[in-house]
Amino acid sequence: MLILSALTTKPSILISLAVTSAITLMPASAQESPAQTASTAISENVSSFERAAVGNDSGHKSSTAAADDVKPFDPIEATQAWLDSVPRNQRERSNTYFEGGYWLILSDFVVVAAISVLLLTSRFSARLRDFSERVTKVRNVQVACYAIPYLLLVYALSFPLNLYENFFREHQYGMATQSFVPWFREQLLGLALTLAGGVLLVVVLYAVFRSAPRTWWIWGTVVMIIFWGTLVLIAPVYIEPLFNTYKPITDPKIRDPILAMARANEIPIKQVFEVDASRQTTRVSANVSGLLGTTRVALNDNLLEQCSLPEIRAVMAHEMGHYVLNHGAKLLTYLGIFILIGFALTRILFDAAINRWGEKWGVRGINDPAGLPLLALILSTLLFLATPFLNTVVRVTEREADVFGINTSREPDGMAKVALKLGVYRKLDPTPLEEFIFFDHPSGRARIRMAMDWKAANLPPGESHASESQPATHY
Ligand SMILES: [Zn+2]
Repeated sequence: MLILSALTTKPSILISLAVTSAITLMPASAQESPAQTASTAISENVSSFERAAVGNDSGHKSSTAAADDVKPFDPIEATQAWLDSVPRNQRERSNTYFEGGYWLILSDFVVVAAISVLLLTSRFSARLRDFSERVTKVRNVQVACYAIPYLLLVYALSFPLNLYENFFREHQYGMATQSFVPWFREQLLGLALTLAGGVLLVVVLYAVFRSAPRTWWIWGTVVMIIFWGTLVLIAPVYIEPLFNTYKPITDPKIRDPILAMARANEIPIKQVFEVDASRQTTRVSANVSGLLGTTRVALNDNLLEQCSLPEIRAVMAHEMGHYVLNHGAKLLTYLGIFILIGFALTRILFDAAINRWGEKWGVRGINDPAGLPLLALILSTLLFLATPFLNTVVRVTEREADVFGINTSREPDGMAKVALKLGVYRKLDPTPLEEFIFFDHPSGRARIRMAMDWKAANLPPGESHASESQPATHY
């Protein structure tokens, strides 16, 4: 539901990396479910319990007796009731889909690693560098002459996995709406953006490698943060509109309650946007994208179509949480720390590898573009190993947005329903270890439990009397 969560191991996703992620929810078959009935029953219990409790002032004995008759709202039971409302076959299907994703993380890594090793050991990388040196004497242009064919080759060699992962598999699980031709057209557009952004980044990084061969890992981190920040800043204006149409929501029944939540939280937005995500997917989603002046809150047409107002409010309040809690800047900072550590380790590993195999591969050192596959190999290995930590950083941030969201929307049942809709593609009830390693958002169980705990706490709307809440005009 926020930028930066698509931390994948694929180098060809440079651009889409930073753009937006999204809380990709799915159309649910669990709309009106037993849990709802259960939860209605439970909330009725709660209100009779409340009535009993309120009666405490006057008739102490009788009210205590009344409270004994009704069962207090139990968040653990309520959470289980929501989870049990999902039919078994649906649960199994979403588990299969999500667990398949674990293997895809491994496959993506293995493919990138294999391509890198192939380019190095075959000395193809060295020959490509020699070619770029024959073309021009200008160092920056040499790097570009190396990087363009390199990026194209990596895209081509990883295309079969890309096709399976993002086209066939998505269709198999009923999440994709595009036929092959429009899908492929968007792939080419993404590739063009990756080439433009990727070549620029590689040229700048190699200029850093040449001028600071020992301390490049520090300056390289600065370059990465600036690159990433710029990408996030321009994405809503220049990148996202290439794939989808954004238009302001005009229906006051949806727009006004959302803008009211924004006003209540000092969020300076005048408009909420709708994006035609149904062009690509059936998933329900919303996101905050951009930075500083380009920040935009958008919800997708699937969400508008498939969710009730309480659910929409729950989702939008979560998105506002990202905004109010400055998650864009915070994630950029965390990412900077990860990159700094990653680059420091890369420096050690790169030099060690060159000492041992440099001559064999025809790679001269860090400032030689022929070493780009080695850089990709080391960085993707580190990224792969860091998966649980990156996911945890993002998941903790998402949990903060959930806490903000539930307190702002005050829609525990809406939040639970949305969590179930997410459960169509994200495993609802994982083990703690699974959640730690693979989840970049809290699991359905964790989210529903948070909502039910909030509901059980039964916060009063505000205890001061009307006369006290008016400012004093004189003394
Ligand atoms: Zn989020």
